[in-house]
Amino acid sequence: MDLEKLDKDFVLHSYNRNYVHFTSGKNAKLFTNELDYIDFTSGIGVASVGHGNEDLALAIYSQAQKLIHTSNLYLIEPQARLAQKLVTLSGYDMRCFFGNSGAEANEGAIKIARKYGQKDTKRHKIITIENSFHGRTISSLKATAQTPMHKDCFSPYPDGFVYAKDLQHAIDLIDDETIGVMIELIQGEGGMHTFTKKQVQDLCDYAHSKDVLVIVDEVQTGIWRTGKFLACHHYDINPDIITLAKGVAGGVPMGVVMTNKKDVFEFSDHGSTFGGNFLSSTAGLKTMQILETNEAHLQEMISLFENSLREILNSFSNLFTDLGGIGLMRSLELKDPKHQATITDLAFKERLLILRSGKNVLRFLPPLTITKEEIHEGFKRLNYALKNM
Ligand SMILES: *Cc1c(COP(=O)(O)O)cnc(C)c1O
Repeated sequence: MDLEKLDKDFVLHSYNRNYVHFTSGKNAKLFTNELDYIDFTSGIGVASVGHGNEDLALAIYSQAQKLIHTSNLYLIEPQARLAQKLVTLSGYDMRCFFGNSGAEANEGAIKIARKYGQKDTKRHKIITIENSFHGRTISSLKATAQTPMHKDCFSPYPDGFVYAKDLQHAIDLIDDETIGVMIELIQGEGGMHTFTKKQVQDLCDYAHSKDVLVIVDEVQTGIWRTGKFLACHHYDINPDIITLAKGVAGGVPMGVVMTNKKDVFEFSDHGSTFGGNFLSSTAGLKTMQILETNEAHLQEMISLFENSLREILNSFSNLFTDLGGIGLMRSLELKDPKHQATITDLAFKERLLILRSGKNVLRFLPPLTITKEEIHEGFKRLNYALKNM
């Protein structure tokens, strides 16, 4: 049976797939029937506890034997426990709503902000930042401040999104119709731009002085990706709404919106059939448990990864200008955007998976449980690939 033909015949063609056929994985390694690959992408920041994680698999298995889903009409013990865990780890006085993806979490954030804005002043506008990425549903796509992505063929889009060039411009754009600013602290898809603590704190202070909600999209940066539980923790800020997804349940689909506006959503304001069911919440709880005990190891791997990237930057100063990002969400900036596809292809030929971001950046999102040996092997392959340029 020709699997590539099967895929092309029956799956809509919205992805530009590489037809490599992975059949299993172990931590930061992926295997086809013949070959091993080093995965510096963790499925775009999702496989936070690595591939083939036995603890996670066992937790999912034993839960699935009892119950997978009963609906949000009834109490779901692991959902309540996961909510408590996320709130405790965040250090903020919040409550959670569970959905199934990053886009859906951001939809929830937009709804919370819009309803909060109805309170007395009838404010509805949400400011987002150039090169952000917030999802693919109609509203989260319109919230994404990359206008080429707002293709006419999907119009009309919802109103009320305003785009700022940067965080200072966002401050300038806040007016008496603004209810929220939505930001990524590191722009994962749109070029890995990392905002400074001062820029972020200035925006938060000004927004709060105007009762404008600070919404932080931590779909990619959250869940220890940057070395702390939330990227917000590097910035010493008090956001009003946080969205999570990608790494939160180790690969089982889950999106979370958390907010300190604990009473905005009332009965029937929002819902999700699958959100936070027994399966995904159990996976989320186990993922939190694994990552909490992984913190010392994570810090060690962050330094090793950073040093290895620095060596690449020094050895190939003809190709790269700088490195960026925080923790295990890292990037190398290219001198020539034309090299972006060439290098990811050459790395793939050396059996190393890496990601792109924006137009001239290579992005690295390895599993948070990656080992020393896997980092060494990955960078050995990256070196070979770059020598072939
Ligand atoms: C991936 C991503 C999203 C969208 O998440 P989906 O699960 O694909 O809907 C939203 N925001 C950020 C910052 C992301 O990285």
